Amino acid sequence: MHEPAIPHLTQSDPEIAELVQAEAKRQHDKIRLIASENYVSAAVLEATGSVLTNKYSEGYAGKRYYEGQQVIDQVETLAIERAKAVFGVEHANVQPYSGSPANLAVYMALASPGDTIMGMALPAGGHLTHGWSVSATGKWFNSVQYGVRKDTGRVDLDEVRELALAERPKLIFCGGTAIPRTIDFEGFAAIAREVEAVLVADIAHIAGLVAGGAHPSPVGHAEIISTTTHKTLRGPRGAMLMSDAAHAKALDKAVFPGLQGGPHNHTTAAIAVALHEAAQPSFRDYAAGIVANAKALAEALLERGFDLVSGGTDNHLILIDLTGKGVAGKPAAKALDRAGIELNYNTVPFDPRKPFDPSGVRLGTAAITTRGLTPSHMPKLAEWIDLAIQAGAAEDEQAIDRIAAEVRELLTAYPMPGYTLT
Ligand SMILES: *Cc1c(COP(=O)(O)O)cnc(C)c1O
Repeated sequence: MHEPAIPHLTQSDPEIAELVQAEAKRQHDKIRLIASENYVSAAVLEATGSVLTNKYSEGYAGKRYYEGQQVIDQVETLAIERAKAVFGVEHANVQPYSGSPANLAVYMALASPGDTIMGMALPAGGHLTHGWSVSATGKWFNSVQYGVRKDTGRVDLDEVRELALAERPKLIFCGGTAIPRTIDFEGFAAIAREVEAVLVADIAHIAGLVAGGAHPSPVGHAEIISTTTHKTLRGPRGAMLMSDAAHAKALDKAVFPGLQGGPHNHTTAAIAVALHEAAQPSFRDYAAGIVANAKALAEALLERGFDLVSGGTDNHLILIDLTGKGVAGKPAAKALDRAGIELNYNTVPFDPRKPFDPSGVRLGTAAITTRGLTPSHMPKLAEWIDLAIQAGAAEDEQAIDRIAAEVRELLTAYPMPGYTLT
């Protein structure tokens, strides 16, 4: 059953209530390895489902365009203060609706249409909003994209520097969605300084690792830090922009009134709750646990002959190139899903296949670490992944069902926040 309980929803809209219960059970019964997902705490769920959703509060604390902000101002101020303390930044804006609008606000604050901007190419592990062609950021700016080296699967800062010197971008984005290795913020900052660009660190994926001390912090290197709040940071769907004091005003003006209307106050409260959780000593253990699980899983996958982009991982994320296994990413992901192991098919660098049917799968350990799985479980997980992919290729649905049952059995011992077994 969903936790907190949903009696009113069950009464008034049984159709949706049933779907909510079904999704809670689905999340409970599966090994969730989608690298951008997690399980939030029941406290975060309660804040997200609160009456704060009823309130409009365009503007910022003390400077609102609607009356009745006695409470909301305090909520938003708390969220900001907690963000500043957890990440050690001078300024935080907690209003962006999600990661993509947060990045748009960065462009709005610091660039004009037609300006040259630079980011990591999507197929190499960057995000759409870092200037990829189909994104508004690729269409409205002169976007220059860097990638990874073919032989190492890693960013080559010499190549980034050369490109930056030739193109003189106004903004440089570092970070991405499929980067299994530590981001060298200091190295990027040196390049940005040399070409007089502003460095934006998009830590959407690794924010929880940064908060928990399991990945170096971009603070002191990147003038602007953009992050979602719902990936490794384990908060509600939302985002934050952080910066030094010099960029505070421009960012705030870009978020509101530049790009958005009223902030989602229930989300702001839930972000504050998640930041309070991230400030606890136990969150450092959580962040270290995510990385330990990823390293153990990478090791176990390598032992089973899987080809990992860059040869392994430093963070929560593993990118598998399935070419050598003779299977494409999409059928593998679908077979794994039927086997109770959820991940996503993903392009690998220099992928000869199409984005909708690429060569790889991407996985991450943030959610399973929240469930309480440890490195001791990772050899078994790698075995299930291997067998399920093989069973999928052989169309052996019985073997897939057997794995799904074993997965469900294991997970009954690892409670899910937001769900109680009945
Ligand atoms: C997830 C992600 C985003 C976008 O977040 P949404 O909330 O999905 O819009 C932006 N940048 C990076 C690096 C991400 O991983």
